[in-house]
Amino acid sequence: MCHRPFGGLLSSTDHTPRLLRVALPTPLRRLFDYRPCREVPACGWRPGLRVKVPFGRRQLIGVVVECPERSDVPDAQLKSVLACLDDAPLPDDWWWLCRFTARYYQHPLGDTIAQALPVALRQGRPLQARHQERWIARDGDTGPLERAPRQAELLAMLHQHPRGLMTRAITAQGFTRAQLEGLQAKHLVECHEERLTATEEESGSRLAEPSLPLTREQAGVLAEIHEGLERYHPCLLHGVTGSGKTEVYLQLIEAVLARGRQALVLVPEIGLTPQTLTRFRQRFRVPVVALHSGLTDLERLDAWDAARTGRAPIVIGTRSAVFTPLSAAGVIVIDEEHDGSFKQQEGLRYHARDLAIARAHRENIPIVLGSATPALETLAQARSGRYRHLRLTQRANRHAPARLELIDLRGRHRQGGLIAPAIEAIRQTLNAGNQVLVFINRRGFAPTLACHACGWLVECPHCDARMTLHRQPQELVCHHCDFHRPLPDACPECDSGDLRPLGSGTERTEETLAALFPETPVHRIDRDSTRRKQAFEDILREIRRGEPSLLVGTQMLAKGHHLPHVTLVVVVNADAGLYASDFRALEHSAQLLVQVAGRAGRAEHPGRVLVQTLHPDDPNLRLLADSGYEALASQLLEERRLAGLPPYRHLALARFEAAREGHVTEFATAAAEALREWLNTQDTSVTCLGPVPAPMERRQNRYHMQLMLSDTRRSALHRACAWLVQWLDNHPDSRRVRASLDVDPQTLS
Ligand code: ADP
Ligand code: ZN
Ligand code: ZN
Repeated sequence: MCHRPFGGLLSSTDHTPRLLRVALPTPLRRLFDYRPCREVPACGWRPGLRVKVPFGRRQLIGVVVECPERSDVPDAQLKSVLACLDDAPLPDDWWWLCRFTARYYQHPLGDTIAQALPVALRQGRPLQARHQERWIARDGDTGPLERAPRQAELLAMLHQHPRGLMTRAITAQGFTRAQLEGLQAKHLVECHEERLTATEEESGSRLAEPSLPLTREQAGVLAEIHEGLERYHPCLLHGVTGSGKTEVYLQLIEAVLARGRQALVLVPEIGLTPQTLTRFRQRFRVPVVALHSGLTDLERLDAWDAARTGRAPIVIGTRSAVFTPLSAAGVIVIDEEHDGSFKQQEGLRYHARDLAIARAHRENIPIVLGSATPALETLAQARSGRYRHLRLTQRANRHAPARLELIDLRGRHRQGGLIAPAIEAIRQTLNAGNQVLVFINRRGFAPTLACHACGWLVECPHCDARMTLHRQPQELVCHHCDFHRPLPDACPECDSGDLRPLGSGTERTEETLAALFPETPVHRIDRDSTRRKQAFEDILREIRRGEPSLLVGTQMLAKGHHLPHVTLVVVVNADAGLYASDFRALEHSAQLLVQVAGRAGRAEHPGRVLVQTLHPDDPNLRLLADSGYEALASQLLEERRLAGLPPYRHLALARFEAAREGHVTEFATAAAEALREWLNTQDTSVTCLGPVPAPMERRQNRYHMQLMLSDTRRSALHRACAWLVQWLDNHPDSRRVRASLDVDPQTLS
């Protein structure tokens, strides 16, 4: 394996260095010095090598960061590395991205590495992909096995599988490796080693099926992307839902493969469906590696290795796949780039889209961000000319995307959240033989349970939040901390037995629709109904058969799924984001509405979208309905500019949490004071707001506060953040209050 050299990090590798500075998977924001072990790795000591080291009473696996001349640790206390695990450093592109990520997000390098590395490598397995063994019974003589009854059973089993079985499948049946080897010694079975991911075939076409002839718009867009195939060339592919963005990706990737380069495709968490994969695998004859949560550690390692060595020309994955090393990166594609799942919301709070941009820049390759509803950040970049703004305004099937029709909820009787005009439209659609999607962004039966006598609402004892009523099974659940409790018989405040569900969730709407349309199957799609593996796929398959049916679902249904027979979408309530305190709430709910609306009329049937609201005159909602997402986005960008919010100012949020309210307040206040004092001594425009309690102050019995830093210049903000995290780490209170930094926060909650 050949790796590009590390730029200037290490001058010479000929001699054994005195010291190794190692990043270890600890929460500490520091590196650790060790002496090299006697055995020198084949490539010499270099950054990027994995080493096993003693750490307290444990042994940890870390990565060499540099080979410094001197250490702050006295010689006598320096320990030696126990072993070096690699012959060559981990891939250069991966290593660069880890260091960039740690720096940008002010996160400990050791923990960043741990998150960016497959579990198997973190645990010290060799980098080279493991082969797996397939055991095949040989024809002919079954041999004398009277005295080895288990071997005879095993052989009989293998004879039933002419293509052989993997070791894992065999041991899962209770057989042992010794029994396999016993049969092998008697020449009754043979063992074939194979890689999990096949190697690309050299000859023949890379395409398994012909590409579609492009529409004029698609062809124009593709030509523009092609202009920058050999350099950093960020493009926003802004195309209405169903405009054929995926076909553009596929043909772009085809061109990249033809140049012998690889493609990395990032999709939202719920976008990596068998359906998406099938589309890629059907088109290309080359190995397509998918990095999803269902992989075993070994499969993940193999996928990583296939990408690293170039065995896999196409890699598709969710957020963390941005860290996949590639031997010859040619393009990065981010589908549904506005999707919230690209931002990790705990620990290392990175944004895969932003890291992908940095990576494309460093590797000097094109990157395509695709969306019908681009994030305001991305849109601003496109408008300023930093990204190329490419548009697809027509659907591939030539039907215009459905418009949003607002319908007034005020004073209307609701059944399962639905009012009469919506129910009537549903009836007509079903009678015409079509399908209906009812979108409701709340799972459970009802958002809460209320006492009709005194107005008491059931609240979570551990959070500042109401508990949701569920019917299947019947219980109260806190959606913030997952606390479950049985329903009370009577109101704890006034003892009345008149407790009633308040509002509607997916379960209630499902129940109502099933009662209203007893002849029609109703499918509910939310996190509860799809807990069983495959459940979601089963329902989607059922729906795609096209029988008239009703779908009730949360945003799981809103994204990317192709539902060709849905011609009516009903949004039960569009109001959640309209008056929320979070500055991104409106952007996100507009994106969601447009994405949901995009499910209607994707095939040959035109669609209709009914949006129930208590605020039919809300100017933002009107703008979205009358003029579309981009018009609203322009308006929101202007508001952000005036308010000094992203993308015009950059934010970082310091979050504090602890079990005792007093501890949080004390620490957060001290941090804010120290930071302000320091800012006063600096020539800086960074401002610091707070500390203020988080919007939900108490969650799972822990108290949360936050401090917001902002500036128009990233560099200044970065310096202030670096100072703050140092201060936090060194403060004794950091032992009882957890403090963390969120650079470019997606929500302020
Ligand atoms: P998007 O990703 O923009 O939502 P898709 O790529 O899923 O859109 O395309 C929507 C539908 O249009 C798919 O069924 C796709 O096969 C079809 N389609 C896309 N491009 C073409 C084309 N050039 N000719 C015919 N059908 C197309
Ligand atoms: Zn009461
Ligand atoms: Zn709770």
